Amino acid sequence: MSKFKKIILIIAPFVLLYLFCLPRQLFRQPLSATLSTGDGTLLGARISDAGQWYFEPAATVPDKFAKCIVAYEDKRFWWHPGIDFLSIGRAIRQNLSRREVVSGASTITMQVIRLSRPDAPRSIPEKLLEAVLATRLELRCSKKKILLLYASNAPFGGNVVGIEAAAWRYFGRPADELSWAESAMLAVLPNSPALIHPGRARARLLEKRNFLLDKLQAKGVIDEVECELAKDEPLPDKPLPMPDKAYHLLERLRAAGGDKAYVCSIDPVLQDRVNAIAKSYFSEYHNNLVDNMGILVRSVQTGETVAYYGNTKGLAPGLRGADVDMVPAPRSSGSTLKPLLYAAMLDKGMILPGTLIKDTPYNYNNFSPHNFSREFDGAVPADEVIERSLNVPSVRMLERYGVPEFLELLQKMGFSTINRDADHYGLSLILGGAEITLESLVGAYLSMARDLAGDGETAESPLSRASIWLTFEALSKAGRPEEESSWREFSSGRKVAWKTGTSWGSRDAWSVGVTRDYVAGIWVGNSDGEGRSGVTGVQYAAPVLFDVITALPSSHWFSKPVDNMVPLEVCHRSGLPASRICPQVDTVWVPDITERPDECKYHRLVHLDAERNYLVNSSCYPVEKMVETVWFVLPPAMEWYYMKNHLDYRPLPPKHPDFDAFSDQGNPIEIIYPQNGITIVTTRSLSGKEQGVVVRAAHRDPTAVLFWHLDDEFAGQTVGEHDLLLRPEPGRHLLTVMDTGGASRAVTFTVK
Ligand SMILES: [Zn+2]
Repeated sequence: MSKFKKIILIIAPFVLLYLFCLPRQLFRQPLSATLSTGDGTLLGARISDAGQWYFEPAATVPDKFAKCIVAYEDKRFWWHPGIDFLSIGRAIRQNLSRREVVSGASTITMQVIRLSRPDAPRSIPEKLLEAVLATRLELRCSKKKILLLYASNAPFGGNVVGIEAAAWRYFGRPADELSWAESAMLAVLPNSPALIHPGRARARLLEKRNFLLDKLQAKGVIDEVECELAKDEPLPDKPLPMPDKAYHLLERLRAAGGDKAYVCSIDPVLQDRVNAIAKSYFSEYHNNLVDNMGILVRSVQTGETVAYYGNTKGLAPGLRGADVDMVPAPRSSGSTLKPLLYAAMLDKGMILPGTLIKDTPYNYNNFSPHNFSREFDGAVPADEVIERSLNVPSVRMLERYGVPEFLELLQKMGFSTINRDADHYGLSLILGGAEITLESLVGAYLSMARDLAGDGETAESPLSRASIWLTFEALSKAGRPEEESSWREFSSGRKVAWKTGTSWGSRDAWSVGVTRDYVAGIWVGNSDGEGRSGVTGVQYAAPVLFDVITALPSSHWFSKPVDNMVPLEVCHRSGLPASRICPQVDTVWVPDITERPDECKYHRLVHLDAERNYLVNSSCYPVEKMVETVWFVLPPAMEWYYMKNHLDYRPLPPKHPDFDAFSDQGNPIEIIYPQNGITIVTTRSLSGKEQGVVVRAAHRDPTAVLFWHLDDEFAGQTVGEHDLLLRPEPGRHLLTVMDTGGASRAVTFTVK
């Protein structure tokens, strides 16, 4: 064997040992969770599992801090191979003369090694090992990377580790925004971190900082003026609390992805505004024991979340329910889904915006909803049903559209918490019978807004742009809901499509608002589900919504998607496609589809006598004297309620005394209550007497006399208002009503 090979054999193990002596990953301690915005603003941070403020390292070391730390700790850092022989020589002399370890002579590279071996003893053999490992680290990493490892893992006093956490902890700013004085103060800390504590150490810290500043000036890094100004800067006071501006968002990210650095799309300025708005309403709501609130704002243009307020955490000590993130929490929808039904029906050509919807008492399988006002309007245009959020017409609309079909639409629009079948929800689906989340509500309106703002090439929602436009138009009108008590006027000074919702028992107050650029959603209530009187969408959620919208940059309204719409002539009064005889016709823009509602059937051609007092026909009146005219006629029950609110509505004149056939006018009687087939539960008074049932009918002729029969027994007669009190026994009954002309109606009902 040659001498050369022998040398190789002897050296090889040492080479291998050297190559593998340094662990792949030097630092393994748990990180703090941090939440930052794209521009580097820290929104929140959590202490790590090791009890430290230890942030995920940034990409680079800030320039000022790099210059400070090199000048202070290791002036030959950029040139030495990990070991600085000049300073070692000095250290050995000092240590030998004092017989103890007083001077480290550690390079920054060696200190990185030392920081990565926190449990190693402070001894001369360890020191030698650190030196060897340091040279190995120099082979592996660039100088910049080594400096970054140092800056990210050095101690900065207390439980603060790394320059990023230190900058936020002591100065409330990111490390790359620190001044020379601030950078210099942080540069002297790792070697004597205890100096940060208040007391006499502070003077020593100031001295060291200024010493470093002088050094920087001497090296020409800063000029004399900069140096003097920097020395005038005071040291920071006690450590600042870490920001916590989006508590629930950070907690949600941590729960899903663990503790690390998260970057989000939140707009820090808007988030501050939203936090302040929530706080300003909280004290008022808290007085009524309404303690929780969620706010979510997303950008129409990017689809990103720009403000996320999960709950009222921290606004009062020990606040109940504030730990629950209300953004993803399932809650009863109230009326918030009604506009989606309106849009869907427009899309299928089932309605036009002004189509009259029946608003009279409704009962189906003993489901009998009422409007918030507990009144009925007889007939209401569909867009007004949405504007005023009327319950009974909405139920009739859903009945027509179909619960399974509407469920399918909602699921397509992202309401993943609406996951039961149609039988489970029934028609109450439209009145808050299903649970949604603030996130899904905002998401659904956002997808609509994005489709409308977009070019029509790609679609996020299953609804057409035309229907979305018409829906937003209906939701942006000024006069508003009846669903909610005591109407309040809101004005943000800009156009907003908005909807409120209130769940049964005043448990949930919702509002959602759409501008051209943002969609904002608000939920107010108690996360434990406790209802409080007076909690409605209008009273509790809409004021918050309008403050949030006011805080947003103003924007123009959407442009009408004319490529997706066509003009159509509709009857002014019924909102249906105009018939040949409709007297007043409007041109409205409607979705460009072939399906349409039938043409107006409410306008009828009628024949009157010359004085226009009676309906006549050829059997009772000379044809040549007849006046032919067009009359707007609603079916009896609709008419009965409609007349009360529409003073211009004139019912048909009575028929002529000699008129013998009313057949062409249909049945003039309608029984309003009870509806056919319902079960009535009667109550007893304190004396044990049955309270009875008030039955009600409507007749087209206001002068008509009606005769009532219960189970073929005469029960009474009525004139004008056809209300009659009956006291039926428990069991099944037949109720019959007749007029003097021979017309009649009958219903069956059951009494319990
Ligand atoms: Zn008409």
